[in-house]
Amino acid sequence: MRRFLVAGNWKMNTVRQSAVSLAAELSAVASTEEAGVEVLVCPPYPYLLPVGEALGGSAVRLGGQDVYFESPGAFTGEVAVEMLRDVGCQYVLIGHSERRAILGETDVVINRKVRAAIAGGLTVVLCVGEQLSERQGGQTEAVLDRQMEGAFAGISDSEALGIVIAYEPVWAIGTGVTASPEQAESAHEHLRKWLSRRYNPDFSEKTRILYGGSVKPDNALSLLGQPNVDGALVGGASLKSSTFVPIIEAARKLSG
Ligand code: PEP
Repeated sequence: MRRFLVAGNWKMNTVRQSAVSLAAELSAVASTEEAGVEVLVCPPYPYLLPVGEALGGSAVRLGGQDVYFESPGAFTGEVAVEMLRDVGCQYVLIGHSERRAILGETDVVINRKVRAAIAGGLTVVLCVGEQLSERQGGQTEAVLDRQMEGAFAGISDSEALGIVIAYEPVWAIGTGVTASPEQAESAHEHLRKWLSRRYNPDFSEKTRILYGGSVKPDNALSLLGQPNVDGALVGGASLKSSTFVPIIEAARKLSG
């Protein structure tokens, strides 16, 4: 049985005070390790340290929203794997659709980031997903295959163990439109088959595949209840404990 991962992507939101308050609230909700559910928050870089302190000894994990692939050096504005580790991160998001679309990240860049993050000991949450026009054009699976092939290029079986996939249909991110549980399950099943072909069935069964795209308290149970959905990557609803905690509770209910 795969352990659910409920991850909050705070994006470019919060200020120090609201970030710390939110972290303190979550640390009370997920104070100890649970067999069935793992909770992760990814605040903006400047708040990683105070958020990490507010999480204290709780079971909530800390992650970066991105990372650069080079070792520390002359790369103005970038943040290295070592730095994320140094401030307490265990996870990092890579390939979020906003970075692909707005910041022009290519599959080649994403692959370099994935490889650097794994080599440096971070667990990667690799985001993949199709645009609305691609879904309407019947291209969803081809797009997912292309993104997976790009991101996993040159990655061995043992390295790939450090990767969690997040299926995030771009048309569902921040739009209030959610993929139906059937649409999510179908894409997740496709991704799991891809992992099985590229690596092996055992690895594929162990890999967690999260759904992301307007996950809210009222749709979490039906989405997380799908056999191949192993958690959620949550944007908007992760910014308040009143909306994020019910999503954690849905995962707890399904895992219990
Ligand atoms: C995201 O940004 O990863 C995301 C899923 O956002 P939202 O939940 O707001 O759609």
